Amino acid sequence: MIGEIAEFIALMRRRRWSAEQTRAHRDERIRALVAHAYEHVPYYRRMMDARGLKPGQIRSARDLEALPVTRKQDLLAAGADCVDPRATDLYRVATSGSSGDPFEQTLTQAEYRKRRLREFRALIGVGVGPLDRLVVLGPIRTRPKRVHRSLGLYQLEVIPFDARPEEQARRIGQARPDVLWIYPTVLKQVLSHTGGRLSELARPGLLITSSQVMDAPFRQQLLDDLPGARMAEFYGSAEAGRIAAGCREDDGLHLEDDAVHVELLEGGRPVEAGEEGTTVITCLDQFAMPLIRYEQGDRCRMRPGRCGCGRSSPVMDSPLGRCADMIVLPSGRRLSALAFDAVVRRVPGLVQYRFVQRRRDRLEAQFCFQTPPAAGVVEAIAGRVREVLREEVEVSVGLFGVEEIRGPKFKSVVSMLEEEGAGPVSG
Ligand SMILES: [Zn+2]
Repeated sequence: MIGEIAEFIALMRRRRWSAEQTRAHRDERIRALVAHAYEHVPYYRRMMDARGLKPGQIRSARDLEALPVTRKQDLLAAGADCVDPRATDLYRVATSGSSGDPFEQTLTQAEYRKRRLREFRALIGVGVGPLDRLVVLGPIRTRPKRVHRSLGLYQLEVIPFDARPEEQARRIGQARPDVLWIYPTVLKQVLSHTGGRLSELARPGLLITSSQVMDAPFRQQLLDDLPGARMAEFYGSAEAGRIAAGCREDDGLHLEDDAVHVELLEGGRPVEAGEEGTTVITCLDQFAMPLIRYEQGDRCRMRPGRCGCGRSSPVMDSPLGRCADMIVLPSGRRLSALAFDAVVRRVPGLVQYRFVQRRRDRLEAQFCFQTPPAAGVVEAIAGRVREVLREEVEVSVGLFGVEEIRGPKFKSVVSMLEEEGAGPVSG
């Protein structure tokens, strides 16, 4: 308990580090991680031997580029060879498996504890106070607890994402959260029972979203309903824990750069700030099952410059979605569901949309309405969808019921392209 508090204080202090301090820490961790992985993890030793690399040649984040990107399939194929055989007292985190492959990230208890403490730090970072009632609506895996809970502060209630929406609505109303942490699609379904208004149930001052893309129209709907409320976004994965999280000042997400080194790549090369790339991560504190240049596979974009809050860590825009959840056009151009935000903004009664793609030149646009739409509305939206596509794509339209958007598995892009692999990153 005392050790945990000391560890947490140390983590909080890092928030005041300069960029140089963080960089020095990161490079030191990379050297230790690569040396450890070479020595004790057969998968990485084989990879480096095959390229004639020795750990001493990887001295900084920049040197990491000599190592190839590792994908989930590589780790699945390596099996036990991607885990340090000496590691004991292990904790396993199942990944979401949305791509269909069962996969577990292995952590020591100490690594898992650090992950939870970082999660707690992220909550404090977005402005969650010790007396706030926090309600989580969704399958949040790494729940911060212990330290703060044992002090009787930071009350947390979890409402299961798979409970009936009426039950979820009732419990939100009962809990009167100050902070509501949600999966957007789960909340959408709940709000389909309250005419789209969260204020009918509760008036949280802070809304946190994670794990799913938050579309701009829904964000606006919530902010219109709750004047003065703030929204913050978290980005993370089962493999790495929290990767980036918002702050009190801005709507961007600060990289957790003292714990996870993030590269954004396009065609195997790093992109500039402001450009979109695919996330490749190196976890600086995970040694039992190291992730070194692991392709996380989300599409993200860094912002140039620094955040007004004073923290030195780089800031990114909201993640644009997973590579696997993108529409691919005949030209090869990719679009996330967010590209259609402007199309669906202020369409009366529209709750959710999704796209199903089986061929590059065909797209099924499907819409879910609170109540049946007026004549011509659906065709009008489809026309605007075609304008966004700007390519020869045959768009068909359909409707779906509100019960289908339930739960975190809902996807606003369902890609069934047979030609595509999930990974556009090479190198
Ligand atoms: Zn900030």
